[in-house]
Amino acid sequence: MSERGVVGVVGAGTMGRGIAQVAATAGFAVLLYDAVPGAVEAALDRIGASLARARERGRLGEEPEAVLGRIRPVADLAGLEPAGWVIEAVPEDLELKRELFARLGEQNPRAVLASNTSTLSITALARGVPAPERVLGLHFFNPAPRMPLVEVIPGAATDPEVLGRAVAFVRDLGKEPVVAKDRPGFIVNRIARPYYGEALVLAGDGVPFETVDRVMRGLGFPMGPFELMDLIGIDVNFAATKSVWEQTFHLPRYRPHPLQAERVAAGWLGRKTGRGFYTYPREPEAASDPAEPRPLAVHLVGEGALAGVLARRVRRVPPAEAELVLDLRLSLGAKSYPQEVPPGRPVLTLAWGHSASRAVSRYAGARGVYGFSLVPPYAEGQPMELFAPEGEAVPPWLAGFARALGYEPVVLPDQPGGVGFRILALLANEAFSALREGLAEAETLDRAMELGTRYPRGPLAWARLFGLPELEAGLRGLYAELGEERYRPDPLLVRRAAVGT
Ligand code: NAD
Repeated sequence: MSERGVVGVVGAGTMGRGIAQVAATAGFAVLLYDAVPGAVEAALDRIGASLARARERGRLGEEPEAVLGRIRPVADLAGLEPAGWVIEAVPEDLELKRELFARLGEQNPRAVLASNTSTLSITALARGVPAPERVLGLHFFNPAPRMPLVEVIPGAATDPEVLGRAVAFVRDLGKEPVVAKDRPGFIVNRIARPYYGEALVLAGDGVPFETVDRVMRGLGFPMGPFELMDLIGIDVNFAATKSVWEQTFHLPRYRPHPLQAERVAAGWLGRKTGRGFYTYPREPEAASDPAEPRPLAVHLVGEGALAGVLARRVRRVPPAEAELVLDLRLSLGAKSYPQEVPPGRPVLTLAWGHSASRAVSRYAGARGVYGFSLVPPYAEGQPMELFAPEGEAVPPWLAGFARALGYEPVVLPDQPGGVGFRILALLANEAFSALREGLAEAETLDRAMELGTRYPRGPLAWARLFGLPELEAGLRGLYAELGEERYRPDPLLVRRAAVGT
């Protein structure tokens, strides 16, 4: 047996075999058990192939056979007796895991017992286990050999000394530990909820899946929400959504969406069944209409970071000479038009907190009112979302104007906020709620999101790029127009915006 120690892994599915590979690569002896005959042998084959790939790509410092030689199948739970650490990765079912932990607890009286659960309560899992103070969560991310983060979650009964050892153990595995509180979804699966949830709400309101995915990819996310749900498995993602919703006593913002339920009912679970939100193999997306760049003389109204960026990209002229009014003020209350600006021109309004339709009455005398959304960091090539009031269409010259500014025009049905703002604002709002509840420090929350999801930046860092008062104003607008609790600015965001920290 290895000098580093012995790790038992229960369940040799997607996560169990990944965790076994991680532990063996880090030099631990691994005992691998699965209830289904043949499952461990199949897992060993896949681990072997994965190690061979890692070796080829220069990510493995020894021969795959040497690592594989440290993993030993065991025929029953009793075979895990030598393990100092036992990590379970059986299906996400509280009763199944509880029963397993109770048995492990009796057979391995000294081992630390860890669960890889994504959403279940560690406190609930530990109940009834002999010596529950050695039970905790070690939440790996898929694929475990590649994802650097592990959430370490103490339950109510967990001994602080065991927690400290677990943090060191995760480092010994070559991973980055983040300690999270035992709350539904912990850090990453909690804060990430709106990435899926708001995408589903937008799709339910008629925004095509492809459009949502295109915008989020355009903002630097490795995958859009729908292609990601198809990869994860819509059934798996739906179960995680339901679990968080149920454990929060049906807090409305976590509510699952009928579009998920419908696909699960149809057996369209994503890539693994050949069909989910998309059909596989996927047809290449039709190229978008390449609008000709159309520079326009602009009267810019409003101030702030976005005004600073756009002021450098547009040709600013006195109001009387303007071909377009670009209004960056977020509040629909301001009725300074047409006093400030001569009427008879089209208006493009920053629509983080309102639809194009709701802005129309603000600009009496305008020759067309349109909504747009552009989000930080406002970099060249980002999507610029455009929408027209009910019953109207976005004119081609407007897409050309976006292109002339250096942005990629994306036309959406009318709704408040647009894809990028709504998803990012809700991710940030969720991060503020997690911060307020003391799940972890701000830097830890952001770091966990970057490492656990590969988001291009943490949601709290993104909030600062928006500006907290601007973020709050946008959310208040969404809340006013859509009337759903999910858009209510978190109290901590409101307080921080008020004091400017
Ligand atoms: P999976 O279905 O791929 O694997 C589960 C394995 O457990 C199967 O091989 C099954 O035969 C085995 N099993 C079932 N009952 C058992 C028992 N009583 N004793 C021993 N083995 C048993 O599932 P998975 O995706 O690896 O998920 C496992 C756990 O990891 C779940 O709690 C899940 O929420 C969590 N998780 C999954 C992911 C992911 O992306 N798949 C990511 C993080 C955490």
